[in-house]
Parts: sequence; structure tokens; C-alpha cells
Amino acid sequence: MLELRNVQTYYGNIKALKGIDITVNAGEIITLIGANGAGKSTTLMSICGIVPPREGSIRFKERELRGMDTDRIVGFGISQVPEGRHIFPHLTVRENLDMGAFLRRDKAEISRDIEYVYELFPILAERRNQAGGTLSGGEQQMLAISRALMARPTLLLLDEPSLGLAPLIVQQIFEIISQINRENGTTIFLVEQNAFQALKVANRGYVMETGTITMTDTAENLLNNEDVKRAYLGV
Ligand code: ATP
Repeated sequence: MLELRNVQTYYGNIKALKGIDITVNAGEIITLIGANGAGKSTTLMSICGIVPPREGSIRFKERELRGMDTDRIVGFGISQVPEGRHIFPHLTVRENLDMGAFLRRDKAEISRDIEYVYELFPILAERRNQAGGTLSGGEQQMLAISRALMARPTLLLLDEPSLGLAPLIVQQIFEIISQINRENGTTIFLVEQNAFQALKVANRGYVMETGTITMTDTAENLLNNEDVKRAYLGV
């Protein structure tokens, strides 16, 4: 579904991605794990054109994305949930969800999808008329994921969904990520520092160090790999 080949991305003279290769198959959950500053967020921003790569290719369903505007890329069915959530604090929960559907015109289907995300996250239904900025961190993450789902993506990019959340909420968020993948067949590209939880829900994983992919395998093998255990799982 998505194929990154020799992707090189810069911030000025700083080479943040040094030629990375990643393949994402339709219907799977893949995770990209790595330390702070490894280049994980840059990978997601390269895919959606927020920080365009200088070299390489990013093919999505046979289309070349490199060089395209983010709006067009979103229109092809790729939604990103950015690190730090970035919901609209002064808009209500419901209005935030409507913003996620701004490219769509199918009103009846939009209403159906709003009901679907309220089923996924019942707390959002309870808080539908509340301003986004008044929600807790976990609720804002739920809203950010829901808003991205309102675009009906076939590929969902999640940047550190567990960041700053209490363990119980993290658990809940990861269960829902699994559920979204299972129920809708949405392909998920999950960037995480919480390697253990990410590998638990993913089919396959990639390990990134200073702008380079150093390892890739099934999530199960990575969970049992001694180097991964030592460096990322704290065991
Ligand atoms: P984190 O988990 O902290 O978000 P990350 O793995 O997502 O880390 P990136 O945010 O992609 O890493 O950063 C990769 C490299 O690019 C780092 O060395 C970082 O300092 C650098 N970098 C990121 N954003 C910018 C920017 N706007 N300008 C200059 N350098 C940047």
C-alpha cells in the first residue's frame, strides 16, 4: 500500500532521514520505534508532505506522493494524528469532528461516522458540546484520533498517541487502535517511544536510529530480540 524507498529528508543542512526504506501492506499495523530524535516524526511528516523529502520515493497505491501538497495527500485517504494532538481548543468536540470531515460531502455517512466514533469513545459523546481545550489529555487524544477517522482514511498515521498519558488510558488507546484496524481494515502506521505497547498491537515493526532503519521484523520477533529488549524495552 505504501512504499518508502531511499527517503532523505532535511531540515536546512541537517539530514534527518538518511535514505530509509519502509513497506506498509494493506490492512496491517506497523510500528516505527526509536529513541528521541531518531527521525520518527519526520518520517510521518515526509509521508504527508509537511516536510517534503529531498530524495527518494514515496508510493501510495501506485501514486508518487513526493512533491504533492498535503491537502492532496489527505484526499487520497491518508490521515495523520500529530504528536501533541493539536485539536481545536475553542471548538466543541462535535465541531472538532466536523472539521475532520471537511473534504467530504456525504452528510448521511458523516453522521454515521460520528455515531461510530462516539461508540468507540463514549466519553466523547458525553462531552460532545464541551470545548476541546477543556478535555483531559487522554480525551484530547481520543478526539484527535476520532477527528482523523472522520476523513475515512485507508491509512492512519499515529504519532506518539501514548505521550504523556496515564498507563490505564494508554492501554485503552492501544486497544481502540487495534479495534479500528480490525473493524474497518484501516491500515495503521504507528510511531511510538512506548515500544512495548506498540509492538504488542503491531504486526511488524521497524527500528530507527539517527535517521536510519537499523532493524525490521515481525513484532513478535522484535519483542523477543535481545538488542531491542535492552535498548527499547528496558528488560
Ligand atoms: P521525538 O520522539 O522526540 O519526536 P523523533 O524520532 O520523532 O523524536 P524527529 O522529531 O523526527 O525525531 O527529529 C529527527 C531529527 O531532526 C532530530 O535530530 C531533530 O533535532 C531534528 N529536527 C526535527 N524537527 C526539526 C526542525 N523543525 N528543525 C531542525 N531540526 C529538526
